[in-house]
Amino acid sequence: MKTSRPIRVRIAPAAIRNNYRLAKQHAPNSRAWAVIKANAYGHGQWRAIDALRDEADGFAVLECENAVALREAGVMQPILLLEGIFSARDVRAVVEHRLTTVIHCPEQLELLVRSGPFAASVSVCLKLNTGMNRLGFTAASLPNALDALRQLPVDITLMTHFAEADGERGVDWQMERFRAMAGDWKGPVSLGNSAAILRHSGAHGDWVRPGIMLYGASPFVDQSAEELGLQSAMTLESAIIGVQEVAAGERVGYGGTFTAERAMRIGVVACGYADGYPRHAPTGTPIAVLGRRTRTVGRVSMDMLACDLTDIPEAGIGAPVTLWGNGLAGKVPADEVAAAAGTIAYELFCAVAPRVPVVLD
Ligand code: PLP
Repeated sequence: MKTSRPIRVRIAPAAIRNNYRLAKQHAPNSRAWAVIKANAYGHGQWRAIDALRDEADGFAVLECENAVALREAGVMQPILLLEGIFSARDVRAVVEHRLTTVIHCPEQLELLVRSGPFAASVSVCLKLNTGMNRLGFTAASLPNALDALRQLPVDITLMTHFAEADGERGVDWQMERFRAMAGDWKGPVSLGNSAAILRHSGAHGDWVRPGIMLYGASPFVDQSAEELGLQSAMTLESAIIGVQEVAAGERVGYGGTFTAERAMRIGVVACGYADGYPRHAPTGTPIAVLGRRTRTVGRVSMDMLACDLTDIPEAGIGAPVTLWGNGLAGKVPADEVAAAAGTIAYELFCAVAPRVPVVLD
């Protein structure tokens, strides 16, 4: 819906393209599934597809129905179903539309085998649990799975997912388990997520799976997106819609959680938790107004939040505000807002509400 309320989310397809290219530079010997699940982490999957249509080696999604929609819209590249198949109908779609499906448990394998024989070879990413302990075959269940799969016409890629590629423990421990499980496997493997692509050159494989880096946020707490050469693909921006001059000792917002320590100028921004801004963002979360960085104050309400304009006297009603991203009003990395709110940029991006109008850069 077009609205005159000033909030907007700006999406920059060129940034997504730049970031995909950066992933490929870091993993020059790998092909890359652009991970566009969750509506391209809130950026709009068609915007991401359009940005990468001529570049991406493949796309990774969750829902089989979505993968079919991509095919029907003319997406020709390989499409990976990250959670695999849930029904016989999914299996038929995988065969008919040449999708690549994760198979992560004996039940999915059984579903696949029962649905055969297939006229053409089915492309399978067999997922190994190497320590994430979420999805995947174990060392004990893998041999049977491989035996069963080899009864079918299938192309198999072995894959695993890293739990701590962004952290101190890294990937070596999971790589060791992967190698032990894969044994003398000579076929293709798919390993790295964004953090592994950027930091662990030995953990890429034939296919990497970049997600968050495509959207211009850093997977690391100790290295910013800018330092990594990533460009912000989403900017949440709005404007000041109210200004209050408050005396020292006055409180601001629901619950009165913020008390003015001196006479202050408070700006009210048209953006609240119903727009997707995190309600848990505390006083002090970075925000930019009219080209200057400042801080939020008090509780985020449903449609509004407050910020400190005491040192930005020129900012009145209508002054542009950047909640996160790279906007008219200045730069505020989504990672910094997320850190202040005790979350990650992934969640901020996915949470932008449908009521926020989208503008393409
Ligand atoms: N691979 C798998 C299996 C995933 O579940 C995800 C995301 O959760 C990714 C790759 C992309 O990870 P990231 O966004 O950290 O690059």
